[in-house]
Amino acid sequence: MPLPDDDALRAIALDTGLLGPDAIGLTLGHAIFIVEGHESRQLLTHECRHVHQYETAGSIAAFLPVYFQQLVTVGYYDAPFEVDAREHEID
Ligand SMILES: [Zn+2]
Repeated sequence: MPLPDDDALRAIALDTGLLGPDAIGLTLGHAIFIVEGHESRQLLTHECRHVHQYETAGSIAAFLPVYFQQLVTVGYYDAPFEVDAREHEID
């Protein structure tokens, strides 16, 4: 399956709620954004695992298309990067 183009990525990000009002955490490379009032050890360790995933992928440009492909294919909860991040959360 070909990787989605920029317009498709934008649509996916909005459709999945990744950048919507319900999103409380977002990681882009080494930058972790957490909505004020939602700071927690669990969320921060989850987002730090995404940093590790970005580093393993080698770049934001290498990570995001694969991540979005996972979201489209199996949905947010079952996306392998999300499953992995949840497994590395510390309460
Ligand atoms: Zn996540």
